[in-house]
Amino acid sequence: MERLPVTEGKTTFFAPVQDEGAAFPPGSAPIFYNRKMEANRDGTVLFLAAVHPSDYLDAMGATGVRGLRVAHETGIAVTINDIDPSAAAEIRANAERIGGAIEVTCQDANALMSTRRFDAVDLDPFGTPAPFVDASCRSAKRYLFVTATDTAPLCGAHLKAGMRRYFARPMNTEYHGEVGLRILLGFVAREMIKYDRGIEPLFCFAHEHFVRLHLRTRPRVKNADQALDRIGYVMQCTGCFYREERTGLLSESGVCPCCGTALRPIGPLWLGAVNDPDTLLAMEALLPEMTLGTASYLGRLLPVLRDELPTSTFYDYHRIAKTLRASPPAIDIVLERLRCGGYLATRTHYEGTGIRTDAPLAAIEAAITDP
Ligand code: SAM
Repeated sequence: MERLPVTEGKTTFFAPVQDEGAAFPPGSAPIFYNRKMEANRDGTVLFLAAVHPSDYLDAMGATGVRGLRVAHETGIAVTINDIDPSAAAEIRANAERIGGAIEVTCQDANALMSTRRFDAVDLDPFGTPAPFVDASCRSAKRYLFVTATDTAPLCGAHLKAGMRRYFARPMNTEYHGEVGLRILLGFVAREMIKYDRGIEPLFCFAHEHFVRLHLRTRPRVKNADQALDRIGYVMQCTGCFYREERTGLLSESGVCPCCGTALRPIGPLWLGAVNDPDTLLAMEALLPEMTLGTASYLGRLLPVLRDELPTSTFYDYHRIAKTLRASPPAIDIVLERLRCGGYLATRTHYEGTGIRTDAPLAAIEAAITDP
């Protein structure tokens, strides 16, 4: 197998050369290294540098890049696992070259996570993490990180697949990226609360074709109950842009107060905050000291995440403008008009034309059309 040295962050490791087009789907390549996930890994290295757990499990290592970087760039003791013996051998060779406190294991991740506990557990599978979430909830002492790349099922483009994996009903709305993140978060929360523990989302975002969660686990029943209270539904009108939140069991769907069309439930999903401003601030403060290939992307992302209003959906104001046959003003003008009207309004990282606000739909329409 031909290998080439690759440098990410401050870490140089060897990755097998991927023969473009030889393996389809991409995940079927023998040992998978995807440069496009550098922003995902950089975010985690930065997060770990800020919270510094006592140990960290990279449950699905492939080349081991994630765990190797955590060990080398944060000094945290890591365990890197992969079910594939050839991947484990590559990880071992890389770990020996890099040095540091790195344990390499070759097990089914569910078996490993069912028998050992780690301060921080990281799931980074091909596609859906759903089959691994239960064991990861039992294994993670304080932190749990989850990647999902099955955005089509999560966001509502593949409805049945989403329902089978996450036992939730997505919908392909203009805020579908956020639906995907919140359905995944709601699923992880439900898997955790059955063990009488809660979750606190600290750093969660969607980018290109993945959703990434960094969560703190919370011990005790009261925290599980608090997480339970944050799981509910977004009731979306299929006739216009109106939506509302609903918690508890759904007895009836109801009717849109704007246009009279029936509301359709999206969920169950996580309705609470998805980021912790203090954690994001700590990450922003550390960013200049780190060597990260996607530092400029993270430098733009973190302040936007910190500013985002904790609403469960956003509006794409260009789409609203289109239905109003109005030419959309610049986003800052719309945000300013909403704020002048006494409402809260911010951008969102999901979409350049997305706005988060507590304003009713009529006030948003007025902010788009009024001079
Ligand atoms: N974390 C890696 C990175 O950042 O480059 C990528 C991991 S790759 C997407 C998924 C890996 O999971 C593959 O190497 C595969 O062999 C491994 N895998 C698949 N099923 C597994 C299982 N049940 N237990 C452990 N590893 C598994």
